[in-house]
Amino acid sequence: MKPFIIANWKMNPATTQEAKSLFDSVKDGLSGIKNVDLVICPPFIYLAAFNSYLSIIKLGAQDCFYEKSGPFTGGISSLMLKDLGCQYVILGHSERRIHFKETDEIINKKIKAVVSAGLNVIFCIGETEAEKKKGETQNVLEVQIKRGLDGISAKEMENIVIAYEPVWAIGTGNPCSPDETRKAVLFIRKLISKIYPARILDNLRILYGGSVNSENVRDYFGKSGVEGFIIGGASLKPEEFIKIIKNIN
Ligand code: PEP
Repeated sequence: MKPFIIANWKMNPATTQEAKSLFDSVKDGLSGIKNVDLVICPPFIYLAAFNSYLSIIKLGAQDCFYEKSGPFTGGISSLMLKDLGCQYVILGHSERRIHFKETDEIINKKIKAVVSAGLNVIFCIGETEAEKKKGETQNVLEVQIKRGLDGISAKEMENIVIAYEPVWAIGTGNPCSPDETRKAVLFIRKLISKIYPARILDNLRILYGGSVNSENVRDYFGKSGVEGFIIGGASLKPEEFIKIIKNIN
């Protein structure tokens, strides 16, 4: 399997021109690099500008409402994303859980909507610093997985990637160590093996996200049991981002 990289641009950059220039720099920097499966997740409004590059870079969204259409002011549906050529949707990101008050139940509805539209989900889970200090990491992961995936069939699970993103590591410059990441990944794998048939585990991709950069990325690959990464802050700096990809290769 190729390393799987998700670039989460979050609410950046401020203009279409900057977004295009960032996208072009990444695309150009990728020339000659074949061994990577790359998904860029820009803000919704830039998605249409990028859908002509789809053979090189896959497109993802950072959220999606769970209804297909109707009176949901400000909402974006999975059908709209599919129409734009999006293949992936990040759901359950801690910034959405915190700032938009998304609960496990809402995330579960969104996951169902996205997989039923034939798109893939990047399902983010992770504990806060306070939960980690209380030794509750595994409990938190278990609850988020069981609630988030409630009612998701084995077939649907084939379209779901799990991202372990400890909240305290996101955007802080304080990444979770490869050893700790490995413990969390093993726990997630064990839990999934109790819920789903073995073939799901064989094909399940688990990612790590939280302050990954070109210096530390190699420490994770191979050692922490992850198949790839979500890159936030560093994905906005094209040179650094390409360096991350090169260092994995
Ligand atoms: C993220 O937002 O998913 C993320 C991993 O951010 P950062 O790389 O900035 O920690």
